[in-house]
Amino acid sequence: MSVIPATGREWHLVARPDGWPKPEAFALREAPVAEPGPGQVLVRNLYMSVDPYMRGRMNDVKSYVPPFQLDQPMEGGAVGEVLANADGIAAGDHVLHFGGWREYAVVDAKSAVKVDPELAPLPAYLGVLGMPGLTAYAGLLEVASFKEGDAVFVSGAAGAVGSEVGQIAKLKGASRVIGSAGTDEKVQLLLDEYGFDAAFNYKKGPVAEQLKEAAPDGIDVYFDNVGGEHLEAAIGRLKVHGRVTVCGMISQYNAPEPPAAPRNLALVIGKRLRIQGMLVQDHQALQPQFFEEVGGWIREGKLRYRETVVKGVENAADAFLGMLRGDNIGKMIVSFED
Ligand code: NAP
Repeated sequence: MSVIPATGREWHLVARPDGWPKPEAFALREAPVAEPGPGQVLVRNLYMSVDPYMRGRMNDVKSYVPPFQLDQPMEGGAVGEVLANADGIAAGDHVLHFGGWREYAVVDAKSAVKVDPELAPLPAYLGVLGMPGLTAYAGLLEVASFKEGDAVFVSGAAGAVGSEVGQIAKLKGASRVIGSAGTDEKVQLLLDEYGFDAAFNYKKGPVAEQLKEAAPDGIDVYFDNVGGEHLEAAIGRLKVHGRVTVCGMISQYNAPEPPAAPRNLALVIGKRLRIQGMLVQDHQALQPQFFEEVGGWIREGKLRYRETVVKGVENAADAFLGMLRGDNIGKMIVSFED
């Protein structure tokens, strides 16, 4: 049984970034460990997630999630060990919850989800079996209405969401899966380990040209994690009645100016394209099916995943910035052990 200390470290946003965030925008501060109230549990975090959407929460703008407050702990997905029990959650249980970016979190028992470390390693609940995994599953199968025989292009393909999109598409009978990523090492991983049919390094030449070569017969589905030039290239290669899931536009999150592309939106008309945005929280009903199907593929060795684990809570802000730069292969995770 872990001892409850008087204080713990937590990350605060101390300045709103303009463009690329600088390390000085974040501060790791010591704060008292709060007493859980009725219906609350105290959790010692073991792993936390750093995600692209957190960049949006650093801006003081109205969005689908409220902005982080300055000089308050940031938040996000985390997995930890319960220290003080409540409402059916016992000390020693492991839970997935939203009190990340801090060593100790007090969270409502109702919002904490018990997870089983025997079933899957704890970090997997933040990645392949967590929010990014469900995003991939729902975004491909539900939002893009994927069907057997479709040719699929996914950007950000070596990341948490993208690597799962490509593999699910293959497992569900895609005729061709194409991915783009930002290093040759990542491109090789897509081809050798994840079974993509074609892949290219988007930093090595115009996306439209590389995509044309990789998908000479066109694509039926584009799963967009990147936006901008990638979206324009995909619109150019989509077949009539093609579908686009707009999951993310990471190329724009730190951009000081609106993107120049896509400039070819008029093609949507003649091709009768369907371009649909998504938020993973709208697809919670798919979770049991997702757990069963994707959990099964992982156990059978049919779906592979990588994680980039940065050790130490003191390195969480660097891990977040590194993820935005592309330092991660697969899900970027912070482990709280030093
Ligand atoms: P991730 O792909 O694991 O990590 C981010 C990756 O983005 C980096 O590794 C980097 O890889 C790539 N990247 C950074 N800047 C780029 C640029 N200018 N152009 C192209 N690629 C760039 O992150 P994730 O958690 O799986 O998220 C992927 C996308 O899904 C993000 O856009 C995120 O916002 C979105 N998302 C949306 C939802 C939703 O509900 N709508 C939920 C989860 C995630 P490279 O080395 O390949 O550049």
